[in-house]
Amino acid sequence: MAEVHEGSCHCGAVTYAVETSLDGLIECNCSYCYRKGFVLAFAPKAAFTLKSGEDQLGEYRFNRHNIAHMFCKTCGVQPFGFGTGPDGSETAAVNVRTLTDIEPWSWTAERVDGRNF
Ligand SMILES: [Zn+2]
Repeated sequence: MAEVHEGSCHCGAVTYAVETSLDGLIECNCSYCYRKGFVLAFAPKAAFTLKSGEDQLGEYRFNRHNIAHMFCKTCGVQPFGFGTGPDGSETAAVNVRTLTDIEPWSWTAERVDGRNF
């Protein structure tokens, strides 16, 4: 069930809200996600709202450059990224570890083999 969740980077410069479900979370073993330890939830980009910190965001792209990985230039935390889904729709990928309104470890995530896609 999709609900509105709040999140932030570590220093608090970047804050956001997203309407998403915490069912179907994934952890990915690709070269980037694995290093970062992401647990990801996905939402249509229209369901994502940046509340503060637009000028604090840096962007990192690699491989096919399809995904804009957004990080805070002050604390380095990456709360979310933007890309396109398999059907071409604009999608936000939220780092569940940066949600501030849920208990740590209250989620479960499925491991996906992004390394061998
Ligand atoms: Zn920060």
